[in-house]
Amino acid sequence: MSFIVAIDGPAGSGKGSITKLVAEKLNLECIDTGAMYRCVTLEMINKNIQINELDKIKNLLNDIDIKLEDENQKVLLNGEDVTQKIRSIEVTKKVSQVSAIKEVRIKLVDLQRKMAKDKNIIMEGRDITTVVFPKADVKIYLDADVEERARRRFKQNQEKNIESTYEEVLSDMKKRDKNDKNKEFGALKVAEDAILLDSTNLTIKQTTKEIIRIIKRKQKEEKIDKKVYEETKNTPFKKFKLFLTKKVVYYGFYKIVYRIKKVNEKNIPDEGAYIICANHVNMLDALAVVCSCKRKVRFICKESMFKNKALGWALKLADTIPLNREKNDIESMKRSLKALKNGDILGVFPEGTRKGMEKNLKAKSGAAFFSLKTGTKVIPLGIQGSFKPFTKVKLVFGEPLDFSEYYGKEKDKEALEKVTNIIMDNIVMLTNRDK
Ligand code: C5P
Repeated sequence: MSFIVAIDGPAGSGKGSITKLVAEKLNLECIDTGAMYRCVTLEMINKNIQINELDKIKNLLNDIDIKLEDENQKVLLNGEDVTQKIRSIEVTKKVSQVSAIKEVRIKLVDLQRKMAKDKNIIMEGRDITTVVFPKADVKIYLDADVEERARRRFKQNQEKNIESTYEEVLSDMKKRDKNDKNKEFGALKVAEDAILLDSTNLTIKQTTKEIIRIIKRKQKEEKIDKKVYEETKNTPFKKFKLFLTKKVVYYGFYKIVYRIKKVNEKNIPDEGAYIICANHVNMLDALAVVCSCKRKVRFICKESMFKNKALGWALKLADTIPLNREKNDIESMKRSLKALKNGDILGVFPEGTRKGMEKNLKAKSGAAFFSLKTGTKVIPLGIQGSFKPFTKVKLVFGEPLDFSEYYGKEKDKEALEKVTNIIMDNIVMLTNRDK
């Protein structure tokens, strides 16, 4: 497992210095990808290779060896320490053009991903949040006014005895901004889900503090996420606790408050994997099904439901599978497939959200996908009632639906749609039966 912080932003936004400070404080490995593009540029200058000499550039890329030493922040190009050389005006002037070459980008992006493998890192550049790690744990776009950035870079140059004027630095920076933002590949842009931080009026210390705050908040959230996902072993004690809780909640709550009634529960076989697909009426309906059924039903529920303490406790006890709708939740999918493989019953609301049918929303094809991928029958369930206290609720189970003619076609959109429609038609029929 690795934790990745990706930072993008224009030249002089403070990324370099800030990233190093954050890395030190949070014990992350720091990767300056700009230094890598500078290495390629320096090597081209050394070998007198021009921007349009693609074959020579390809050969150079095959042989190049770039290393970023974390302990002493040294940059090694083919074994030579080039930490200072890559900051020369000559390299700075040319690097933006070099970094626009597709082959250069492919090679360096690949190298950057390899460098980060299984590590906790903070990586800065221009395309880290968008291309290199679009799924980074933390994504930040650091910006500042171009005049302020030029002032900072000019001051840095003076400190490093690099000859330049403020006007030169400003005009060079504007050119670089233009090039960086208009590249065909790996252009500098703000990723949709990146946090935008403007450092124009902030000191390095203030910006560093803010970034550390953002990262720590994310690390805390991920810890909570992991807690939600932790599945506990099915010990006899857990089974007993679930049995007891189901009885208490069923007779002490659902029976009294909703006079809940089950119709045709016999349609759930005593053994084997099945998918129960129901209409979604209220946030209490998943638990109503869980507590009403003899067998354990493992619903897929949106993660936020686990945040309610009592409900979360009960959902976890029933091995409910959390789903994060904000992302492509692979973990949730893997768990659901595993549950079916283990012979469990999976509970799904194909509407995706409460009263999806009333809102005219298209049903989701997740249940159909699981059925076709694993060859599992679907038990339709019509939930009747509004869950207003002291009104009746009825759970009407249909006979298992067999989709064997579509098994293995889980990637076929048409098949998924057909199966989803059949499931939904059956649910609708059951919500209207014996009213
Ligand atoms: O960050 P630094 O100013 O050292 O980067 C030098 C140049 O390398 C940038 O102006 C940009 O053109 C290029 N670069 C890039 N993609 C990255 C990092 C840097 O294109 N991820």
